[in-house]
Amino acid sequence: MNIIPRNQHPISRSDISENAIKVLYRLHKGGFEAYLVGGCVRDLLLGVAPKDFDVVTNATPEQVRQLFRNCRLIGRRFRLAHIIFGRDIIEVATFRGHHSDEEKEVGKIARTSDEGMILRDNVYGTIEEDAHRRDFTVNALYYNIADFAIYDFVGGMADLEDGTLKLIGEPEERYREDPVRMLRAARFATKLGLRIDDSCRTIIPALAHLLDDIPAARLFEEFLKLFIGGKAVANFEVLNDLGLMAPLFPVLKVPFKDPASIEYQMVYQAFIDTDSRLHENKSVNPGYLFAAILWYPMIARASEISQEASFSEYDAYQMASADIIALQVRSISLPKRFSIPMRDIWILQLRLMQTTPRKAVRLLTHPKFRAGYDFLLLRAKVENDKRLRSLAEFWTQLQIDNPGLTAGATKAPTKRHRPRTRCRPARK
Ligand code: ATP
Ligand code: MG
Repeated sequence: MNIIPRNQHPISRSDISENAIKVLYRLHKGGFEAYLVGGCVRDLLLGVAPKDFDVVTNATPEQVRQLFRNCRLIGRRFRLAHIIFGRDIIEVATFRGHHSDEEKEVGKIARTSDEGMILRDNVYGTIEEDAHRRDFTVNALYYNIADFAIYDFVGGMADLEDGTLKLIGEPEERYREDPVRMLRAARFATKLGLRIDDSCRTIIPALAHLLDDIPAARLFEEFLKLFIGGKAVANFEVLNDLGLMAPLFPVLKVPFKDPASIEYQMVYQAFIDTDSRLHENKSVNPGYLFAAILWYPMIARASEISQEASFSEYDAYQMASADIIALQVRSISLPKRFSIPMRDIWILQLRLMQTTPRKAVRLLTHPKFRAGYDFLLLRAKVENDKRLRSLAEFWTQLQIDNPGLTAGATKAPTKRHRPRTRCRPARK
Protein backbone atom coordinates (compact mmCIF):
# COMPACT_ATOMS: atom_id res chain seq x y z
CA MET A 1 0.00 0.00 0.00
CA ASN A 2 1.15 3.50 -0.80
CA ILE A 3 0.16 6.43 1.43
CA ILE A 4 0.60 9.87 -0.09
CA PRO A 5 0.68 12.39 2.76
CA ARG A 6 -1.23 15.65 2.57
CA ASN A 7 1.78 17.72 1.60
CA GLN A 8 2.56 15.50 -1.36
CA HIS A 9 -0.73 15.73 -3.24
CA PRO A 10 -2.80 18.68 -4.39
CA ILE A 11 -6.19 17.88 -2.83
CA SER A 12 -7.29 20.27 -0.14
CA ARG A 13 -10.49 20.45 1.83
CA SER A 14 -11.53 23.60 -0.02
CA ASP A 15 -11.85 21.53 -3.23
CA ILE A 16 -14.43 19.27 -1.64
CA SER A 17 -18.14 20.04 -1.41
CA GLU A 18 -19.25 21.31 1.97
CA ASN A 19 -21.81 18.56 2.32
CA ALA A 20 -19.29 15.84 1.60
CA ILE A 21 -16.99 17.35 4.23
CA LYS A 22 -19.83 17.34 6.75
CA VAL A 23 -20.55 13.68 6.06
CA LEU A 24 -16.89 12.70 6.32
CA TYR A 25 -16.46 14.50 9.66
CA ARG A 26 -19.65 13.17 11.17
CA LEU A 27 -18.58 9.61 10.37
CA HIS A 28 -15.10 10.30 11.67
CA LYS A 29 -16.40 11.77 14.92
CA GLY A 30 -18.73 8.80 15.24
CA GLY A 31 -15.64 6.62 15.48
CA PHE A 32 -15.68 5.31 11.93
CA GLU A 33 -13.26 5.49 9.05
CA ALA A 34 -14.37 7.82 6.27
CA TYR A 35 -12.87 8.42 2.84
CA LEU A 36 -13.68 10.07 -0.43
CA VAL A 37 -13.23 7.59 -3.22
CA GLY A 38 -13.59 7.02 -6.94
CA GLY A 39 -14.21 9.62 -9.60
CA CYS A 40 -13.98 12.61 -7.27
CA VAL A 41 -10.47 11.81 -6.01
CA ARG A 42 -9.31 10.95 -9.51
CA ASP A 43 -10.78 14.14 -10.99
CA LEU A 44 -9.39 16.38 -8.26
CA LEU A 45 -5.93 14.94 -8.86
CA LEU A 46 -6.30 15.69 -12.56
CA GLY A 47 -7.60 19.18 -11.94
CA VAL A 48 -11.08 18.33 -13.27
CA ALA A 49 -14.22 19.42 -11.38
CA PRO A 50 -15.82 16.25 -9.94
CA LYS A 51 -19.43 15.44 -10.84
CA ASP A 52 -20.17 14.24 -7.35
CA PHE A 53 -18.46 13.16 -4.16
CA ASP A 54 -18.71 9.56 -3.04
CA VAL A 55 -17.90 8.49 0.47
CA VAL A 56 -16.92 5.06 1.78
CA THR A 57 -16.73 3.96 5.37
CA ASN A 58 -16.43 0.93 7.59
CA ALA A 59 -19.79 1.81 9.19
CA THR A 60 -22.64 -0.41 8.05
CA PRO A 61 -25.60 1.28 6.36
CA GLU A 62 -27.59 0.92 9.59
CA GLN A 63 -24.82 2.57 11.58
CA VAL A 64 -24.70 5.38 9.04
CA ARG A 65 -28.42 5.87 9.43
CA GLN A 66 -28.05 6.25 13.15
CA LEU A 67 -25.58 9.09 12.65
CA PHE A 68 -27.66 11.12 10.20
CA ARG A 69 -31.24 12.28 10.43
CA ASN A 70 -31.26 13.13 6.71
CA CYS A 71 -30.36 9.60 5.67
CA ARG A 72 -32.18 7.16 3.43
CA LEU A 73 -31.06 3.62 2.76
CA ILE A 74 -31.42 2.47 -0.80
CA GLY A 75 -30.53 -0.41 -3.08
CA ARG A 76 -31.25 -4.06 -2.87
CA ARG A 77 -28.27 -5.50 -4.66
CA PHE A 78 -26.01 -3.39 -2.55
CA ARG A 79 -27.30 -1.34 0.37
CA LEU A 80 -26.16 2.27 0.29
CA ALA A 81 -26.88 5.28 2.41
CA HIS A 82 -27.94 8.53 0.82
CA ILE A 83 -27.41 11.61 2.94
CA ILE A 84 -29.78 14.23 1.65
CA PHE A 85 -29.05 17.94 1.66
CA GLY A 86 -31.92 19.40 -0.35
CA ARG A 87 -31.05 18.61 -3.95
CA ASP A 88 -27.55 17.49 -3.14
CA ILE A 89 -27.10 13.85 -2.21
CA ILE A 90 -23.94 12.38 -0.78
CA GLU A 91 -23.72 8.66 -1.29
CA VAL A 92 -22.13 6.67 1.49
CA ALA A 93 -21.14 3.06 0.80
CA THR A 94 -19.77 0.50 3.19
CA PHE A 95 -16.49 -1.18 2.19
CA ARG A 96 -17.27 -4.13 -0.01
CA GLY A 97 -15.52 -7.41 0.44
CA HIS A 98 -14.77 -10.53 -1.52
CA HIS A 99 -17.21 -13.32 -1.35
CA SER A 100 -15.91 -16.76 -0.65
CA ASP A 101 -16.64 -19.54 -3.11
CA GLU A 102 -18.83 -21.17 -0.51
CA GLU A 103 -21.11 -18.14 -0.44
CA LYS A 104 -21.21 -18.12 -4.23
CA GLU A 105 -22.36 -21.70 -4.20
CA VAL A 106 -25.21 -21.25 -1.79
CA GLY A 107 -26.07 -18.13 -3.75
CA LYS A 108 -27.34 -16.41 -0.66
CA ILE A 109 -25.25 -13.31 -0.54
CA ALA A 110 -23.57 -13.19 -3.88
CA ARG A 111 -24.54 -14.76 -7.15
CA THR A 112 -22.60 -15.21 -10.35
CA SER A 113 -24.06 -16.02 -13.75
CA ASP A 114 -22.73 -18.71 -16.06
CA GLU A 115 -20.74 -16.09 -17.98
CA GLY A 116 -19.02 -15.07 -14.75
CA MET A 117 -21.12 -11.96 -14.18
CA ILE A 118 -21.77 -10.91 -10.63
CA LEU A 119 -25.51 -10.57 -10.17
CA ARG A 120 -25.97 -9.64 -6.57
CA ASP A 121 -23.64 -8.99 -3.70
CA ASN A 122 -23.87 -7.62 -0.25
CA VAL A 123 -20.66 -8.59 1.45
CA TYR A 124 -18.89 -6.01 3.57
CA GLY A 125 -15.12 -6.00 3.77
CA THR A 126 -11.97 -4.04 4.45
CA ILE A 127 -10.80 -0.96 2.59
CA GLU A 128 -8.23 -3.05 0.78
CA GLU A 129 -10.84 -5.51 -0.41
CA ASP A 130 -13.02 -2.59 -1.41
CA ALA A 131 -10.17 -1.22 -3.54
CA HIS A 132 -9.76 -4.50 -5.36
CA ARG A 133 -13.43 -4.63 -6.23
CA ARG A 134 -13.29 -1.37 -8.15
CA ASP A 135 -12.76 -1.25 -11.89
CA PHE A 136 -9.72 0.86 -12.79
CA THR A 137 -6.68 1.62 -10.68
CA VAL A 138 -7.27 5.37 -11.04
CA ASN A 139 -10.77 4.88 -9.64
CA ALA A 140 -9.50 3.23 -6.47
CA LEU A 141 -7.80 6.11 -4.68
CA TYR A 142 -9.02 7.00 -1.20
CA TYR A 143 -8.77 10.40 0.46
CA ASN A 144 -8.80 9.89 4.21
CA ILE A 145 -10.48 12.58 6.31
CA ALA A 146 -8.49 11.44 9.37
CA ASP A 147 -5.09 12.46 8.01
CA PHE A 148 -5.87 14.07 4.61
CA ALA A 149 -3.62 11.51 2.94
CA ILE A 150 -4.38 9.49 -0.18
CA TYR A 151 -4.40 5.73 0.22
CA ASP A 152 -3.47 3.75 -2.87
CA PHE A 153 -3.69 -0.05 -2.80
CA VAL A 154 -3.45 -0.81 -6.50
CA GLY A 155 -0.96 1.61 -8.05
CA GLY A 156 -3.57 4.14 -9.18
CA MET A 157 -1.36 7.11 -8.41
CA ALA A 158 1.46 5.92 -10.67
CA ASP A 159 -1.02 5.13 -13.45
CA LEU A 160 -2.57 8.59 -13.17
CA GLU A 161 0.83 10.22 -13.41
CA ASP A 162 1.61 8.04 -16.36
CA GLY A 163 -1.73 8.76 -18.07
CA THR A 164 -2.70 5.11 -18.16
CA LEU A 165 -6.09 3.56 -17.61
CA LYS A 166 -5.66 0.05 -16.29
CA LEU A 167 -8.10 -2.45 -14.85
CA ILE A 168 -7.36 -3.84 -11.42
CA GLY A 169 -6.57 -7.55 -11.65
CA GLU A 170 -6.88 -9.84 -14.63
CA PRO A 171 -8.50 -7.86 -17.47
CA GLU A 172 -10.53 -10.59 -19.12
CA GLU A 173 -11.94 -11.76 -15.81
CA ARG A 174 -12.85 -8.20 -14.86
CA TYR A 175 -14.64 -7.59 -18.18
CA ARG A 176 -16.48 -10.88 -17.86
CA GLU A 177 -17.62 -9.97 -14.36
CA ASP A 178 -19.06 -6.75 -15.69
CA PRO A 179 -18.90 -6.13 -19.44
CA VAL A 180 -19.97 -2.49 -18.97
CA ARG A 181 -16.39 -1.90 -17.86
CA MET A 182 -15.47 -1.99 -21.56
CA LEU A 183 -17.67 1.02 -22.19
CA ARG A 184 -16.34 2.71 -19.08
CA ALA A 185 -12.80 2.20 -20.36
CA ALA A 186 -13.65 4.09 -23.53
CA ARG A 187 -15.43 6.83 -21.63
CA PHE A 188 -12.72 7.47 -19.05
CA ALA A 189 -10.03 7.39 -21.72
CA THR A 190 -11.71 10.17 -23.70
CA LYS A 191 -12.96 12.14 -20.72
CA LEU A 192 -9.62 12.24 -18.97
CA GLY A 193 -7.22 11.93 -21.87
CA LEU A 194 -5.88 8.61 -20.59
CA ARG A 195 -4.49 5.79 -22.70
CA ILE A 196 -6.15 2.43 -22.24
CA ASP A 197 -3.38 0.04 -21.28
CA ASP A 198 -2.68 -2.57 -23.99
CA SER A 199 -3.52 -5.39 -21.59
CA CYS A 200 -7.03 -3.97 -21.27
CA ARG A 201 -7.55 -2.68 -24.81
CA THR A 202 -6.57 -5.48 -27.13
CA ILE A 203 -8.99 -8.04 -25.68
CA ILE A 204 -12.04 -5.79 -25.96
CA PRO A 205 -13.09 -6.67 -29.55
CA ALA A 206 -13.24 -10.36 -28.66
CA LEU A 207 -15.34 -9.69 -25.56
CA ALA A 208 -17.63 -6.97 -26.94
CA HIS A 209 -20.46 -9.47 -27.45
CA LEU A 210 -20.73 -9.88 -23.67
CA LEU A 211 -22.59 -6.59 -23.65
CA ASP A 212 -25.52 -8.43 -25.23
CA ASP A 213 -26.41 -9.70 -21.76
CA ILE A 214 -26.53 -6.30 -20.10
CA PRO A 215 -30.01 -5.01 -19.32
CA ALA A 216 -31.16 -2.45 -21.87
CA ALA A 217 -32.01 0.09 -19.18
CA ARG A 218 -28.45 0.08 -17.88
CA LEU A 219 -27.12 0.54 -21.40
CA PHE A 220 -29.41 3.52 -21.85
CA GLU A 221 -27.73 5.16 -18.86
CA GLU A 222 -24.35 4.37 -20.40
CA PHE A 223 -25.55 5.73 -23.74
CA LEU A 224 -26.35 9.06 -22.07
CA LYS A 225 -22.95 9.20 -20.39
CA LEU A 226 -21.14 8.31 -23.60
CA PHE A 227 -22.99 10.48 -26.05
CA ILE A 228 -24.68 13.26 -24.10
CA GLY A 229 -21.69 14.32 -22.08
CA GLY A 230 -19.82 16.53 -24.54
CA LYS A 231 -17.44 13.84 -25.81
CA ALA A 232 -19.68 11.99 -28.23
CA VAL A 233 -17.35 12.19 -31.23
CA ALA A 234 -14.32 10.95 -29.33
CA ASN A 235 -16.32 8.15 -27.72
CA PHE A 236 -17.82 7.12 -31.05
CA GLU A 237 -14.37 6.84 -32.61
CA VAL A 238 -13.00 4.76 -29.77
CA LEU A 239 -16.07 2.52 -29.60
CA ASN A 240 -16.00 1.98 -33.35
CA ASP A 241 -12.33 1.03 -33.20
CA LEU A 242 -12.88 -1.37 -30.33
CA GLY A 243 -15.87 -3.12 -31.90
CA LEU A 244 -18.21 -1.81 -29.20
CA MET A 245 -20.72 -0.15 -31.52
CA ALA A 246 -22.24 -3.46 -32.62
CA PRO A 247 -23.62 -4.57 -29.26
CA LEU A 248 -25.03 -1.08 -28.68
CA PHE A 249 -26.59 -0.63 -32.11
CA PRO A 250 -27.19 -4.04 -33.65
CA VAL A 251 -29.13 -2.60 -36.59
CA LEU A 252 -26.10 -0.67 -37.81
CA LYS A 253 -23.56 -2.28 -40.08
CA VAL A 254 -20.67 -1.65 -37.74
CA PRO A 255 -17.80 -1.31 -37.18
CA PHE A 256 -17.86 1.36 -39.83
CA LYS A 257 -14.87 0.82 -42.05
CA ASP A 258 -15.17 3.76 -44.40
CA PRO A 259 -15.34 7.19 -42.80
CA ALA A 260 -16.38 8.62 -46.16
CA SER A 261 -19.58 6.55 -46.34
CA ILE A 262 -22.85 8.36 -45.70
CA GLU A 263 -23.71 5.90 -42.92
CA TYR A 264 -20.59 6.90 -41.06
CA GLN A 265 -20.96 10.56 -41.89
CA MET A 266 -24.54 10.71 -40.63
CA VAL A 267 -23.65 9.30 -37.23
CA TYR A 268 -20.43 11.28 -37.04
CA GLN A 269 -22.08 14.58 -37.94
CA ALA A 270 -24.89 13.97 -35.44
CA PHE A 271 -22.29 13.49 -32.71
CA ILE A 272 -20.42 16.62 -33.78
CA ASP A 273 -23.66 18.61 -33.56
CA THR A 274 -24.48 17.08 -30.17
CA ASP A 275 -21.11 18.00 -28.73
CA SER A 276 -21.25 21.53 -30.02
CA ARG A 277 -24.78 22.08 -28.74
CA LEU A 278 -23.71 20.91 -25.30
CA HIS A 279 -20.68 23.15 -25.36
CA GLU A 280 -22.99 26.05 -26.17
CA ASN A 281 -25.26 24.98 -23.31
CA LYS A 282 -28.12 24.18 -25.67
CA SER A 283 -30.56 21.35 -25.14
CA VAL A 284 -29.95 17.94 -26.63
CA ASN A 285 -32.65 15.37 -27.14
CA PRO A 286 -31.54 11.73 -27.12
CA GLY A 287 -34.46 11.03 -29.47
CA TYR A 288 -32.93 13.29 -32.11
CA LEU A 289 -29.62 11.54 -31.78
CA PHE A 290 -31.24 8.12 -32.11
CA ALA A 291 -33.15 9.40 -35.15
CA ALA A 292 -29.81 10.17 -36.81
CA ILE A 293 -28.07 6.97 -35.75
CA LEU A 294 -30.92 4.78 -36.96
CA TRP A 295 -31.96 6.80 -40.02
CA TYR A 296 -30.34 4.71 -42.73
CA PRO A 297 -31.41 1.37 -41.25
CA MET A 298 -34.94 2.77 -41.02
CA ILE A 299 -34.86 3.93 -44.66
CA ALA A 300 -33.53 0.56 -45.79
CA ARG A 301 -36.26 -1.25 -43.91
CA ALA A 302 -38.93 1.08 -45.34
CA SER A 303 -37.82 0.33 -48.87
CA GLU A 304 -37.89 -3.41 -48.15
CA ILE A 305 -41.44 -3.03 -46.87
CA SER A 306 -42.57 -1.05 -49.91
CA GLN A 307 -41.15 -3.73 -52.15
CA GLU A 308 -43.02 -6.46 -50.32
CA ALA A 309 -46.39 -4.83 -50.82
CA SER A 310 -47.70 -1.61 -52.21
CA PHE A 311 -47.82 0.42 -49.06
CA SER A 312 -47.74 4.18 -49.17
CA GLU A 313 -44.40 5.69 -48.31
CA TYR A 314 -45.96 7.03 -45.16
CA ASP A 315 -47.14 3.59 -44.04
CA ALA A 316 -43.80 2.06 -44.93
CA TYR A 317 -42.05 4.64 -42.75
CA GLN A 318 -44.42 3.94 -39.89
CA MET A 319 -43.86 0.19 -40.09
CA ALA A 320 -40.14 0.49 -40.59
CA SER A 321 -39.90 2.82 -37.58
CA ALA A 322 -41.71 0.31 -35.43
CA ASP A 323 -39.44 -2.52 -36.60
CA ILE A 324 -36.22 -0.61 -36.09
CA ILE A 325 -37.25 0.65 -32.65
CA ALA A 326 -38.24 -2.87 -31.61
CA LEU A 327 -34.82 -4.17 -32.60
CA GLN A 328 -32.95 -1.29 -31.01
CA VAL A 329 -34.65 -1.39 -27.62
CA ARG A 330 -33.43 -4.93 -27.08
CA SER A 331 -29.97 -3.44 -26.66
CA ILE A 332 -30.58 0.08 -25.38
CA SER A 333 -33.96 0.84 -23.93
CA LEU A 334 -35.34 4.09 -25.19
CA PRO A 335 -38.03 5.68 -23.05
CA LYS A 336 -41.18 6.69 -24.94
CA ARG A 337 -40.50 10.34 -24.32
CA PHE A 338 -37.54 9.93 -26.67
CA SER A 339 -38.78 7.30 -29.12
CA ILE A 340 -41.94 9.26 -29.91
CA PRO A 341 -40.09 12.43 -30.99
CA MET A 342 -37.71 10.20 -32.94
CA ARG A 343 -40.59 8.80 -34.99
CA ASP A 344 -42.01 12.27 -35.46
CA ILE A 345 -38.69 13.45 -36.86
CA TRP A 346 -38.60 10.56 -39.32
CA ILE A 347 -42.18 10.98 -40.48
CA LEU A 348 -41.64 14.73 -40.83
CA GLN A 349 -38.98 13.99 -43.42
CA LEU A 350 -41.81 12.91 -45.71
CA ARG A 351 -44.04 15.82 -44.89
CA LEU A 352 -41.19 18.26 -45.46
CA MET A 353 -41.13 17.13 -49.07
CA GLN A 354 -44.52 18.70 -49.65
CA THR A 355 -44.04 22.34 -50.42
CA THR A 356 -47.48 23.50 -51.51
CA PRO A 357 -47.88 26.88 -49.81
CA ARG A 358 -50.85 26.20 -47.55
CA LYS A 359 -49.65 22.84 -46.32
CA ALA A 360 -46.14 24.12 -45.84
CA VAL A 361 -47.15 27.07 -43.69
CA ARG A 362 -49.33 24.79 -41.61
CA LEU A 363 -46.44 22.41 -41.05
CA LEU A 364 -44.45 25.23 -39.45
CA THR A 365 -46.71 24.96 -36.42
CA HIS A 366 -46.08 21.23 -35.95
CA PRO A 367 -44.65 20.80 -32.43
CA LYS A 368 -41.66 18.89 -33.77
CA PHE A 369 -41.15 21.04 -36.84
CA ARG A 370 -37.90 22.49 -35.59
CA ALA A 371 -36.38 19.07 -34.91
CA GLY A 372 -37.60 17.77 -38.26
CA TYR A 373 -36.14 20.79 -40.03
CA ASP A 374 -32.80 20.47 -38.24
CA PHE A 375 -32.77 16.84 -39.26
CA LEU A 376 -33.39 17.81 -42.87
CA LEU A 377 -30.40 20.17 -42.69
CA LEU A 378 -28.34 17.34 -41.27
CA ARG A 379 -29.30 15.04 -44.13
CA ALA A 380 -28.64 17.75 -46.70
CA LYS A 381 -25.19 18.28 -45.28
CA VAL A 382 -24.31 14.61 -45.05
CA GLU A 383 -25.67 13.59 -48.44
CA ASN A 384 -24.52 16.73 -50.17
CA ASP A 385 -27.54 16.27 -52.41
CA LYS A 386 -28.75 19.22 -54.48
CA ARG A 387 -32.41 18.34 -54.13
CA LEU A 388 -32.19 18.09 -50.36
CA ARG A 389 -30.24 21.32 -50.20
CA SER A 390 -32.81 23.27 -52.14
CA LEU A 391 -35.58 21.72 -50.03
CA ALA A 392 -33.74 22.84 -46.91
CA GLU A 393 -33.41 26.34 -48.37
CA PHE A 394 -37.13 26.41 -49.06
CA TRP A 395 -37.91 25.72 -45.40
CA THR A 396 -35.31 28.14 -44.17
CA GLN A 397 -36.87 30.88 -46.31
CA LEU A 398 -40.40 29.94 -45.27
CA GLN A 399 -39.50 30.42 -41.63
CA ILE A 400 -37.96 33.79 -42.36
CA ASP A 401 -41.12 34.80 -44.21
CA ASN A 402 -43.35 33.61 -41.37
CA PRO A 403 -41.59 34.67 -38.20
CA GLY A 404 -42.97 33.44 -34.92
CA LEU A 405 -45.01 30.61 -36.44
CA THR A 406 -42.60 27.80 -35.72
CA ALA A 407 -43.29 25.88 -32.56
CA GLY A 408 -40.64 26.74 -30.03
CA ALA A 409 -39.60 29.84 -31.98
CA THR A 410 -40.42 32.12 -29.11
CA LYS A 411 -40.13 29.63 -26.28
CA ALA A 412 -37.14 29.52 -24.03
CA PRO A 413 -34.82 26.62 -24.80
CA THR A 414 -35.87 23.44 -23.09
CA LYS A 415 -33.84 22.20 -20.21
CA ARG A 416 -30.88 20.05 -20.92
CA HIS A 417 -31.63 16.40 -20.40
CA ARG A 418 -30.33 14.97 -17.19
CA PRO A 419 -31.15 11.58 -15.77
CA ARG A 420 -34.02 12.17 -13.36
CA THR A 421 -32.35 10.59 -10.46
CA ARG A 422 -28.72 10.64 -9.67
CA CYS A 423 -27.19 7.64 -11.40
CA ARG A 424 -26.01 5.26 -8.80
CA PRO A 425 -22.82 3.58 -9.84
CA ALA A 426 -24.15 0.34 -11.20
CA ARG A 427 -21.31 -1.63 -9.75
CA LYS A 428 -20.94 -5.31 -9.95
P1 ATP B 1 -17.90 9.66 -13.32
O1 ATP B 1 -18.90 9.80 -12.22
O2 ATP B 1 -17.05 10.83 -13.57
O3 ATP B 1 -18.49 9.09 -14.55
P2 ATP B 1 -16.81 7.69 -11.55
O4 ATP B 1 -15.47 7.01 -11.52
O5 ATP B 1 -17.21 8.47 -10.35
O6 ATP B 1 -16.85 8.56 -12.85
P3 ATP B 1 -19.16 6.16 -11.07
O7 ATP B 1 -19.95 5.36 -12.05
O8 ATP B 1 -19.77 7.34 -10.44
O9 ATP B 1 -17.85 6.57 -11.85
O10 ATP B 1 -18.64 5.14 -9.98
C1 ATP B 1 -17.97 5.54 -8.80
C2 ATP B 1 -16.85 4.56 -8.48
O11 ATP B 1 -17.41 3.26 -8.26
C3 ATP B 1 -15.82 4.36 -9.59
O12 ATP B 1 -14.81 5.33 -9.52
C4 ATP B 1 -15.31 2.98 -9.29
O13 ATP B 1 -14.39 2.98 -8.24
C5 ATP B 1 -16.55 2.26 -8.80
N1 ATP B 1 -17.27 1.59 -9.90
C6 ATP B 1 -18.27 2.11 -10.65
N2 ATP B 1 -18.70 1.23 -11.56
C7 ATP B 1 -17.97 0.14 -11.42
C8 ATP B 1 -17.94 -1.14 -12.07
N3 ATP B 1 -18.78 -1.41 -13.07
N4 ATP B 1 -17.05 -2.06 -11.61
C9 ATP B 1 -16.23 -1.79 -10.59
N5 ATP B 1 -16.19 -0.61 -9.96
C10 ATP B 1 -17.05 0.34 -10.34
MG1 MG C 1 -19.12 9.40 -10.05
